[in-house]
Amino acid sequence: MKITDIKTFIVGIQGKNLFVIKVETDKGVYGIGQGGTTARESSMNGMIEHMRDFLIGKDPRRIEDINQELYRSQYYEGGTIIAAATSAIDIALWDILGKYLNVPVWQLLGGATRRHVTCFIDGPAGSGRSFADQAEDLVGKGWKTIRFLPETGDPEFKQDRDSIFEPWESIYWTADQIKQVRQRVGPDIQLAIDYHHRLNVAEAAAFCQRIQDVNLLFLEEPIRSESPDAYAALRKMSPMPFAIGEEFSGIYVFAPFIEQGLANYVRLDVCNVGGFTAARKVAAMAEAHYLDIVPHTPQGSICLAASVHLCAAIHNFAILEYNYLMPHLPVDLFPKQLDLQGDRFPLPQDPGLGIDFNEEAISEYPPARWEPPHCLRRDGAFTNW
Ligand SMILES: [Mg+2]
Repeated sequence: MKITDIKTFIVGIQGKNLFVIKVETDKGVYGIGQGGTTARESSMNGMIEHMRDFLIGKDPRRIEDINQELYRSQYYEGGTIIAAATSAIDIALWDILGKYLNVPVWQLLGGATRRHVTCFIDGPAGSGRSFADQAEDLVGKGWKTIRFLPETGDPEFKQDRDSIFEPWESIYWTADQIKQVRQRVGPDIQLAIDYHHRLNVAEAAAFCQRIQDVNLLFLEEPIRSESPDAYAALRKMSPMPFAIGEEFSGIYVFAPFIEQGLANYVRLDVCNVGGFTAARKVAAMAEAHYLDIVPHTPQGSICLAASVHLCAAIHNFAILEYNYLMPHLPVDLFPKQLDLQGDRFPLPQDPGLGIDFNEEAISEYPPARWEPPHCLRRDGAFTNW
């Protein structure tokens, strides 16, 4: 079997662009994949153009070998764009292999370790409703684990556009909101917060102190994560469980966070870490340290499906992210998607990823230039979204 073409698609959905690829073979079997940097997708597109030159003609079943070549062949190894492009191709190759052998990808990864894959859900960001009201609704719909994004209490602050983000305003407001959630839903619902890299070490420690009685499942990325030393400093200031790693591009970025006990949950993203091939290595590293995986999935149907297959097969899985926007992905573009049942996905039974992408429909979804929101402090200084 040989790779005959790699097609790339940038489709605009819900104000964002998804970067999708299709790897075609001379056996008529194709695979679909996705790269996950969320924005700056033309850079992934350009990287795939370079990779296409040496992939055409290769046997798509040599997945590990191709993954190594994609990651290392530029000489300037790694980085988010190489890893995201590598992820897209790797996911498509596993999809091809599953279809060729007529088995779901989780079977190729070692077989099922569980009967279903359980998810958590986000409170709808920027809805204007209190966290407690949102949580009550979600618990009423059967959700048992709910995560929130921090806000500031300023009605002008929006998660999806340029806004003023002042850390201490957010700490006061978000801590108060999550305490109200705990009072409303009781002790048996799992709660989490994703601070999206928006605090410094002292601010993060102060936030942890303020909510210590809430008993979070985890606090996700309270600080930026280039520096394991910064997390080590924060770790000394708080016993809070941290979930880290959604933007990490490869096994080597994860290594210090796992080996030094800085991450308590591993937030790998199959579309950013290097596909299934890198994800299962990260999962194995985490397993050796008794850490569980909480995959990051807001990139759409392909990322979600790939994550379900991974979570079905690895043993050290905690819970999977289910973004509240997911149900609205258009079915003309993704005619076959995995079906959530309650708060869980049954194991997919169709060959490969068990989903499909209809390239005939892309003209209905033109990409628009999209940038992540650029947030400012009240004094005009840039700060993280
Ligand atoms: Mg996150």
